[in-house]
Amino acid sequence: LLQIQTLHKRFHDVEVLKGVNLEVREREVVSIIGSSGSGKTTLLRCVNLLEEFDSGQILLDGESIGYRIGGDRRRRLSDRALSRQRSMTGMVFQSFNLFPHLTAAGNIMLGLRKVRRLPKDEARSIAEKWLGRVGLSQRADHYPSQLSGGQQQRVAIARALAMNPKLVLLDEITSALDPELVQEVLLTVKSLAEEGSTLLIVTHEMRFARDVSHRVVFMEQGQIAEQGPPAEIFGNPKSPRLAEFLRSAR
Ligand code: ATP
Repeated sequence: LLQIQTLHKRFHDVEVLKGVNLEVREREVVSIIGSSGSGKTTLLRCVNLLEEFDSGQILLDGESIGYRIGGDRRRRLSDRALSRQRSMTGMVFQSFNLFPHLTAAGNIMLGLRKVRRLPKDEARSIAEKWLGRVGLSQRADHYPSQLSGGQQQRVAIARALAMNPKLVLLDEITSALDPELVQEVLLTVKSLAEEGSTLLIVTHEMRFARDVSHRVVFMEQGQIAEQGPPAEIFGNPKSPRLAEFLRSAR
């Protein structure tokens, strides 16, 4: 479903992604781990078109993301094409990013109404369905300020999924939560994974990565240093850097 090929990205004089190659198959759950600054978030942001990249290619469902490739020049796609491509992925952020003036249902309905142009009734019923899926049926008409951090993050997850994206990107979604709220969010993601969503996850929660992923990718200094099934990555790391990272992450 997703193919990232020799992706390079620099911020000024710092090369943050140094030729990343990564594939994610349909219904696969892939977690990216690695030390702070290794480029994990930047990689997700390139897939979601929140960052431009310098060279290489991202294909989603066979379509070149962000740029028209052909001949020896690449051209940024039109805003219209970019916004259509953006809706192929859903992203959930560390900081929830809910609109404070809209209820839980209202937050979910916004994209359905404005982007998908659905009538209000239909948007509302999709919002209710997804709130049910994340265990928040009783909170549809609450505002973000009336919800716990964990509940807000579950609304953000429901909002991303309601748009029916091909690929869901989760960027350190539990990092801003109090420890006692982390578990409910992780369980929500786990149930989505079991239902067959395709997920690309950046996380610092090693136990979660081990639990939920089909494959774990270890990033180090802008490159993928090692990848494999969780049992191998966590049980039998091959590179000394991964072994050291896992010791320090415990
Ligand atoms: P963390 O786990 O701390 O979130 P990360 O692996 O996700 O780290 P990135 O956030 O992708 O790493 O950052 C990679 C590098 O790029 C860092 O050195 C960071 O300082 C730099 N960087 C990220 N965004 C920008 C930006 N907008 N401008 C300049 N440098 C940036």
